[in-house]
Amino acid sequence: MKIYFDLHTHTTASGHAFSTFKENLEEAASKGLSALGMSDHAPAMPGSAQAIYFTNFKCFRPEVMGVRIYTGVEANIMDFKGNLDLDEAVLQKMDYVIASLHMPCIKPGTPKENTDALIGAMENPYVKIIGHPDDDRYPLEYERLIPAALKHRVALEVNNSSFNPRSGRQNAGKNVMKWLSIAKEYRLPVILGSDAHIYYDVGDMTEAVKMLKAAGYPPELVLNAREDGVQYVLNR
Ligand SMILES: [Zn+2]
Ligand SMILES: [Zn+2]
Repeated sequence: MKIYFDLHTHTTASGHAFSTFKENLEEAASKGLSALGMSDHAPAMPGSAQAIYFTNFKCFRPEVMGVRIYTGVEANIMDFKGNLDLDEAVLQKMDYVIASLHMPCIKPGTPKENTDALIGAMENPYVKIIGHPDDDRYPLEYERLIPAALKHRVALEVNNSSFNPRSGRQNAGKNVMKWLSIAKEYRLPVILGSDAHIYYDVGDMTEAVKMLKAAGYPPELVLNAREDGVQYVLNR
């Protein structure tokens, strides 16, 4: 499967990632990606960048080394209403927002509460992607989540890093297979994200693609494999 873009990548600005933007960009170019999105963790993640970092994307050129650059953030969902840790004034300065549940920022709730948190985040117009909805630490009601993603036209992510055996996320393989089987019925377009925290993982969707194949997911519903996939996500 030809992968055109990766919108889930971290730089050293995230506080627990190990490569610079330039290193990530070089990797994206060498892998033949047409677009790279930068999505450092938002301020509530310990050690991550402050809000001011996310207001300075004006320094980015639209395209460098033949790769289209998109600026974003992986925002933290802070409560079960889906509120995020960055204000609208900051969110509007970037191309896209990934919203995710992270242990340092929100304690897991019931499946209903966790699902409410993700659906609440989808109602925020700046949120284009829900990151890694695949973790048994945050059990979800997929029967409710999938139709909500379709309704709000938000992309649910199959996160390649979740399948790393050393990932803190639990039972991602089982959960992804479960939600893909429901999403397939709804013909929900899905997005793949590397969630790279070091340059060589940028654009690597190997494990995520294996999951899609195992689920028999229709290739035309995989946004990263479509030349118009980025626009589908950003023009939500
Ligand atoms: Zn991280
Ligand atoms: Zn995350």
